[in-house]
Amino acid sequence: SKNAGRNCFNVYSPDLKVEADQRSLLEIELREAIWREEIEVFYQPVVELGTGRMVSVEALARWHHPTRGFVPPAEFIPIAEEAGLIVELGNLVLAKACRDAMKMPDEVKVAVNLSAVQFTKSNLVDVVKFALAESGLPECRLELEITESVFLADSAENLKTLRSLKALGVSIALDDFGVGYSALSYLTAFPFDKVKVDKAFMDRIDRPETRAVLGSIVQLVRTLNLAIVAEGVETQQQVDEMGALGIPLGQGYFFHRPVPLADIASPSSTAPKW
Ligand code: C2E
Ligand code: CA
Ligand code: CA
Ligand code: CA
Repeated sequence: SKNAGRNCFNVYSPDLKVEADQRSLLEIELREAIWREEIEVFYQPVVELGTGRMVSVEALARWHHPTRGFVPPAEFIPIAEEAGLIVELGNLVLAKACRDAMKMPDEVKVAVNLSAVQFTKSNLVDVVKFALAESGLPECRLELEITESVFLADSAENLKTLRSLKALGVSIALDDFGVGYSALSYLTAFPFDKVKVDKAFMDRIDRPETRAVLGSIVQLVRTLNLAIVAEGVETQQQVDEMGALGIPLGQGYFFHRPVPLADIASPSSTAPKW
């Protein structure tokens, strides 16, 4: 098995070699897929608990490989980051998401994930500007999701870029909040518009400690006047806890799975499905 190969002291273990070969093959194939624009974008709604209204959608990259089938982002995004392909991939997703958002109801924002690696390219601000101009999407309808990793590498330069992005009129969300290292300090490092609370909190919402931590996050977020979204909402019990804690926005399989544009653009899809 893979694990047996990893624990083996022989670094030339055939298992490891097979793994490395498959990885570079996947990298070559990913390069081709990006080049051929075979990467699709799905959209997962964020809903307002009180009304069931879809306030935004998150753009999520999808790769349907001709023979391997569906390759999960958890597998190909890290490869794209290491191989330097994430810039092109990210630009592709951004451009598609902006164009697709023009086919969605006017009040719906579109959120696009940015990798910290994209910040190392000096032209990120121009790329975002271009995607907006080319699609005609108003700046206020674009949201950029970043993780604290943006603050870890070259943070002074990245902070500058983040400020320039915000100055365009787009909004900035802090993703996967609460699971990193000094997460609270990042909240005050930059004027974010929104905080997305990591799924780990919903997974453990039945524990009093989790609810206590979430309670103080909600308070802090209110003090800073930010929006807050719970990610990975899967059950009615989690929705009830969100209500009790005062988290008004949710994203997760309980509401909607990520879907192709056609399912968002059609007027019937704006009605709650649960
Ligand atoms: P993320 O940004 O935290 O996105 C949310 C992930 O949680 C998505 O996984 C989504 O499908 C999944 N999810 C949503 N609701 C639920 C739920 O109720 N239960 C469970 N178990 N999962 C739920 P996905 O699409 O597989 O993407 C995984 C990660 O890959 C994303 O996490 C993001 O970090 C990265 N990613 C995806 N697309 C892009 C992209 O275009 N650019 C970059 N840089 N990263 C991307
Ligand atoms: Ca995200
Ligand atoms: Ca997230
Ligand atoms: Ca993530």
